[in-house]
Amino acid sequence: MTKVISKRRGVNVTKAEHNLVMKLVKKAVRELSKKKYEFPDFIRRDACWLEVETKNRGQRSYGGSLGIMIDVSRYRQKMKVLNEYSAFAKDPVIGSAITDDPEVVLFGTVCHEVAHWAQLNSRLARKMKRYKETYRKAHGKCFQSIYRYLRVALVNPLVKKSQVKVVEETLSSKAFVEAGIDLQQVKDCFKKINGEMTYASSQK
Ligand SMILES: [Zn+2]
Repeated sequence: MTKVISKRRGVNVTKAEHNLVMKLVKKAVRELSKKKYEFPDFIRRDACWLEVETKNRGQRSYGGSLGIMIDVSRYRQKMKVLNEYSAFAKDPVIGSAITDDPEVVLFGTVCHEVAHWAQLNSRLARKMKRYKETYRKAHGKCFQSIYRYLRVALVNPLVKKSQVKVVEETLSSKAFVEAGIDLQQVKDCFKKINGEMTYASSQK
């Protein structure tokens, strides 16, 4: 089975936060290893690995072919908004969502980055016929398909509040107020998250 390797715990990241990220990464990888997703058998072999680094610097998280880097600062700030890329932010399954549990937001981020890993790993999606044309694009069809598996199976069942589309024009909508979300927090979130660097996008 894929080895999830703890590569580095960031200087300001607590052991508990780091261990939580490790636990969530393992859950995501275990999910993708299920035969129903038809990833190459490589994902179920010991030779397959994924390195995990954490940081707490208010930066973007990252997912690449070798592993992922998760910034826990939004989790530390108890952020309850899972903010997704504008290209699919409105998607009812993989789009932005609001929850009452910051750990669910962290799990969403972990799943997003694990999906990038599966997308870009040289022996996973890249070996699959159906992703042949799409694996290169950072947030394209291949990524979205893998991320969708993880959202459906792991994250969305935990989103207790009804999903609310996080788009700028809804910022003043009463949906946020009803969900108990501080509008300023949402606005800060927008300022901070303009998308993360990915291996694919940095390769262009
Ligand atoms: Zn991404």
